Amino acid sequence: RAKNAGRGRVEVYDDDLRAALAAQTAVEDGLRHALVADELVLHYQPVTDLETGRVRSVEALVRWEKPGEGLVPPGRFIPVAEGSDLVCDLGRWALRTSLRQLAEFDATGGPAAGLSVAVNISGRHLRSPRLVEDVRTALEASGTAPGRLVLEVTETVMVEDDAAWARLEELRAIGVRVAIDDFGTGYTSFGQLARVPVDVLKIDRSFVDSDDPRTVELVRLVVGAARSFGLRVVAEGTEQASQVRALQAVGCDTAQGYYFSRPVPAGRLAEAVTGCGEIFSTLGRFAEAG
Ligand code: C2E
Ligand code: MG
Ligand code: MG
Ligand code: MG
Repeated sequence: RAKNAGRGRVEVYDDDLRAALAAQTAVEDGLRHALVADELVLHYQPVTDLETGRVRSVEALVRWEKPGEGLVPPGRFIPVAEGSDLVCDLGRWALRTSLRQLAEFDATGGPAAGLSVAVNISGRHLRSPRLVEDVRTALEASGTAPGRLVLEVTETVMVEDDAAWARLEELRAIGVRVAIDDFGTGYTSFGQLARVPVDVLKIDRSFVDSDDPRTVELVRLVVGAARSFGLRVVAEGTEQASQVRALQAVGCDTAQGYYFSRPVPAGRLAEAVTGCGEIFSTLGRFAEAG
């Protein structure tokens, strides 16, 4: 009997596993089709300079316009795509699309002209020898200067990985910039921070969220260290004026978050960029706010 029960559990586990695999395959097939059928879109979120209120860069964030389901957020399909080379196809698409749209923003001559764009790159794509070629091809097709492209790689992906670091060096040699995304959620030590081949550090939302005085001190230390190492700092997930003021007080360069603007479709970016400046001016400088 015990044996049968045991076997039963194994069968249940098998069924769960089979169901999970079937669900994964369904998302993969859907996504493969989405790439061909043009169902993916990029939304753009401005990054606001905390000294001037100007927006000089945006982050490109993918969404899936799935017929009958509306806008599907990346959290629902990127983790599945990461299970195969599909995530590299998606990365290639995001590079090509964001740089083409950047050239289109330039052509308008409006508030969205002359921006830099940050594109999220998955660990699998970073480890693929094709990434460098994908970046080169996308830059050439759009005629964009390499310095206007920032590749965002999560801290967890780049930590202590010689191959990843070598690839980042290769990309930086082209003139492309690199950002550590979600900083503080991985295991980068201060020693590594001094050596890691990156240009921008994005402080994870969880640190911006907290008004615990020790966390605020931690952000101050990270901003100070980043400064000494010549990195620009972006605070992610800024939702409130009080957070923006606290970030200004610790010397953080820029902020990205719902307080300034949600990620918006390409057609609304110019309006969002102007909006960030207006929101910044209502905020008052930290020194004045006291
Ligand atoms: P991420 O790169 O850290 O992007 C920031 C996420 O925070 C975005 O979620 C953004 O919409 C959200 N966010 C921005 N401001 C706020 C705020 O004030 N409050 C809160 N609560 N959230 C805010 P999103 O667009 O759902 O993307 C989630 C993640 O999916 C991204 O995190 C990134 O890791 C991944 N992702 C998005 N687009 C791509 C892509 O094209 N390629 C790859 N490989 N990954 C992508
Ligand atoms: Mg990112
Ligand atoms: Mg992030
Ligand atoms: Mg994140």
